[in-house]
Amino acid sequence: MTLLKVEQLHTHIHTNKGRVSPVRGVSFSIEKGEVTGVVGESGSGKSVMSQSLIRLLDREGNIEYNGQIHFDNKDVLALSEAELRKLRGNDISIIFQDALSSLNPLYTVGNQIVEAIRTHQSLSKKTARKQAIEFLRLTGIPSPETRFNSYPHELSGGMQQRVMIAMALVSKPKLLIADEPTTALDVTIQAQILDLIIQLNTEFEMSILFITHDLGVVREICSSVKVMYLGQIVEEGPTETIFNQPLHPYTKLLLASMPKLNSDRTEPLPAITGTVPSLSNIPKGCSFSTRCPYATDLCREQEPPMFSNDGQRVQCWLYDEEKGGWLD
Ligand code: SF4
Ligand code: MG
Repeated sequence: MTLLKVEQLHTHIHTNKGRVSPVRGVSFSIEKGEVTGVVGESGSGKSVMSQSLIRLLDREGNIEYNGQIHFDNKDVLALSEAELRKLRGNDISIIFQDALSSLNPLYTVGNQIVEAIRTHQSLSKKTARKQAIEFLRLTGIPSPETRFNSYPHELSGGMQQRVMIAMALVSKPKLLIADEPTTALDVTIQAQILDLIIQLNTEFEMSILFITHDLGVVREICSSVKVMYLGQIVEEGPTETIFNQPLHPYTKLLLASMPKLNSDRTEPLPAITGTVPSLSNIPKGCSFSTRCPYATDLCREQEPPMFSNDGQRVQCWLYDEEKGGWLD
């Protein structure tokens, strides 16, 4: 069952220097229970895209969306402010890299979870407290009864992240958007948080949109992956297909620059040359043409369409069906 369907989504930000568009015609869908990854360098639009799905950016003003976002039979772009709040509170939760900035330093973590629970259900403080402790336990926080009374600054980064996940889960969301939730954590804690996320996916059949720049994480937990570049999805498909048979030159370069565990290679990792162009200076034609080793005149003139084959989609002129597929 399709939970989320996004069609030709554009996000425009009107600034005093003119209009920039960090999301430029993104289309995809997420099935119930699916864990899908979004990868790309910083500046690729991953965060803005995911926040656009629940119109979080509206708070900044000067935001304009075009396209379609349908979530569970709701037309997200047509929702009122009150309906949006309900959607964000009940059906879609988001967690960020920086847990501390999402927690209120003035309240104990327990009280913050209690408050979150009581905005969804009319429960007595006592019952909500019990539930809050259960959520803390679920996220693997040791001695949750004691931790209930801790202030955010008294907890380690990993614990803060667990508290934030607990807060995000109180409403049993249908979709969890996780924006680099483990980037700031050390490797062991990162592995534990990933395990937790997977456990929640299995237990509650919660769909997850996992934003990361770490392809290793994607391979571990995501069944499908989308590769973003300069506000567009340039390739997507099942994780194994993308890893075994990447089509887009950008995906290939991202994979080639992935550090390999247990490898004794001594030559430097190939780097993708150059940087992501600025949003106020988007290249004509294919947006990757300024960095792509295969760029031709056609690439620099005309934006390639999305070609699809067997569940894999790629936006690149090299993969032209009329020419019989991938030309190497
Ligand atoms: Fe490279 Fe051309 Fe493909 Fe763009 S369309 S990724 S420039 S080969
Ligand atoms: Mg980001």
